[in-house]
Amino acid sequence: MMSRKISRIERALDALEPLEASCTLCPRECRVDRRQDKTGICRSGSRAALSSALLHFGEEPVLSGRHDRAASDPVEETSRRGSGTIFFTGCNLKCLFCQNYQISWLGQGREVSDAELAEIMLELQRRGAYNINLVSPTHFLTPILRALRIACGRGLKIPLVYNTNGYEKAEIIEKLAGIIDIYLPDLKYRSSRLSLRYSAAEDYFLRAGPAVQEMFLQQPDLVLDGDGIARQGLIIRHLILPGHVDDSLAVLDWMAQKLPPTTALSLMSQYRPCHLAPKDIRRPLSTEEYRLVVAGAKRLGFENFFIQPEFFRPDEHLLPDFDLPEPFRWKK
Ligand code: SF4
Repeated sequence: MMSRKISRIERALDALEPLEASCTLCPRECRVDRRQDKTGICRSGSRAALSSALLHFGEEPVLSGRHDRAASDPVEETSRRGSGTIFFTGCNLKCLFCQNYQISWLGQGREVSDAELAEIMLELQRRGAYNINLVSPTHFLTPILRALRIACGRGLKIPLVYNTNGYEKAEIIEKLAGIIDIYLPDLKYRSSRLSLRYSAAEDYFLRAGPAVQEMFLQQPDLVLDGDGIARQGLIIRHLILPGHVDDSLAVLDWMAQKLPPTTALSLMSQYRPCHLAPKDIRRPLSTEEYRLVVAGAKRLGFENFFIQPEFFRPDEHLLPDFDLPEPFRWKK
């Protein structure tokens, strides 16, 4: 089984490494020579760079472990093992409102060799992580695959989560078949006007839609183990923006047309205006806006969705601070 994964990784590397010479790994198609450390929009060179690697307890319960009884049940709290999350430096999308702007925009982090990255993955597994959660992996796809080749050869066996902003090329995602166990893409916008305004990517939906469909082809069903932890599947995240409920409903409409109602959907209420958020979205989401989108998802027949009612009310959400050694010791 593991040797099959390693041979898939080798096949993907054969296809993807040549792209580094004139980078077309993502829809930006900057065509810079990454091997010479020339940088494009993601501002990333040839080696992976990361900001943090930690056990994360704030992802969806199927990734981080349950947190519904944590507050009242200390045993439950300590038994959660968390998602082994690696936050990569830089981003190919760079939304103006990014809550991780310290790493995506400001470039906080350090370069690591393929061998170091492999050791980081193995250490997360040793610490009990349920999975390896690769956050913003696309611009470092080749060093990540090289690290995975080493780590899988040394016994990495927990599921791999591809946690992406969704601005992907379907033909690149195709190469990851048989490697990625859980796809966790954002589907941020339906409107090209909004994606241009907030993420300088007019073609966001034209790219993200087919990429998500490819992810669905590879991992259609969310498969859980006996403890309710995901082993494989697809979870589509949608962050609702204040004042743009209509676009959120348009995203859900598209999903309802293209994907079955059993598709796992995570409706995120945690938006807070960060970094360069323009004036029209410089406020948190209202509870009413969140309710409207959740009601829309129910109306469209989605059966399998995660909402953030108790822990992530818009007025209570806390932001990570990547300047801290433990970024998720939340600050307001
Ligand atoms: S991965 Fe980076 S350099 Fe390559 S096309 Fe995308 S933004 Fe440009």
